[in-house]
Amino acid sequence: MNALEECAADCPYCGEPITVLVDGCGDQSYIEDCEVCCQPMIVNVGTDEDGETTISLHREDE
Ligand SMILES: [Zn+2]
Repeated sequence: MNALEECAADCPYCGEPITVLVDGCGDQSYIEDCEVCCQPMIVNVGTDEDGETTISLHREDE
């Protein structure tokens, strides 16, 4: 069973804090539209050394 986790990061376009729901089943990346400025951003999901799910957001054109 995968628990959904809430992760927060800043939008790479408008700088607003974005909350994303991810399932903590390992590294993945996908594209999601910012809920504030509606730009498509790449969400990279990873796991840090403590086993916590972390995300980073990138512009699609980077
Ligand atoms: Zn944005």
